Amino acid sequence: MITVATTPVKTYLSKSKIPGFDYVINPYVGCPHKCVYCYAEYMRKFTGHAEEWGDFLDIKTCEVPLRPFKLFRTRVMLSSVTDPYNPYEKQYELTRRLIKQLIVCQAQVYILTKSALVLRDLDLFQQIPGCEVAFSFSSTDDHFRQLAEPGVSSVSDKINALKTLHKAGIKTAVMGAPLFPGISDWQSIIEQTRPYVDRYGFDSLNMRPAYQKKVLAFVARHYPQTLPLYSDIFLQEEPTDYWQKLGEEILSYCRQHHIRAEVYFGSSRSYSGG
Ligand code: SF4
Repeated sequence: MITVATTPVKTYLSKSKIPGFDYVINPYVGCPHKCVYCYAEYMRKFTGHAEEWGDFLDIKTCEVPLRPFKLFRTRVMLSSVTDPYNPYEKQYELTRRLIKQLIVCQAQVYILTKSALVLRDLDLFQQIPGCEVAFSFSSTDDHFRQLAEPGVSSVSDKINALKTLHKAGIKTAVMGAPLFPGISDWQSIIEQTRPYVDRYGFDSLNMRPAYQKKVLAFVARHYPQTLPLYSDIFLQEEPTDYWQKLGEEILSYCRQHHIRAEVYFGSSRSYSGG
């Protein structure tokens, strides 16, 4: 059972720390998608909630509208620490209202989601020049999705949404992230989505100490055969070259197949134009 409440904020905008974006908008606090690896979970300590992350959702309210003079031609991302198309968005339409304001402001809009609900706002995206919608995929295995990302749209629904967006002329991207060693099949992510995707990004599984126990318990329970690999990568003092090699492998494949891709791990952030 999820607790839903409203929380007043002074502004919906946050200055972006993500390269390439001026502002980030997180319309909600919390995320009912409940991904086992959720990096946004640290937000809970700022909320005063006793519930677990994923068991509460605060809907932000703000009396001050987004200002065109501030946002004109800026790059705005929705969202970084919540999914702007969580199931409650269907009822509350907060993301939709904010996108309508961003159209008035003539901001450039970039959406990052794991939900096919994003298709509801296709009519709005078509009014925004250069608008891009990105889907995250850790895997194309729907069993993994059910275990690790229980609230997220099915793999086939995400692929169909990409298809619809692409057909409608919206720029699309896939973030292959986070990649689970020995579990995520990055080549399958590309192969199953390539006809409908303009560019790819890939990121590693981040094992900050706060998440490590939970993620390793997940792996031990559902994918025990991969545990030795996780031990090598995450638990040894000697750094491993696993990510370096994986990044090179992905970029080499993308170069060979003329696929536009970035890899956000390994020795450097790399790029292959396609
Ligand atoms: S969709 Fe994103 S914000 Fe929501 S639980 Fe999953 S990782 Fe966290």
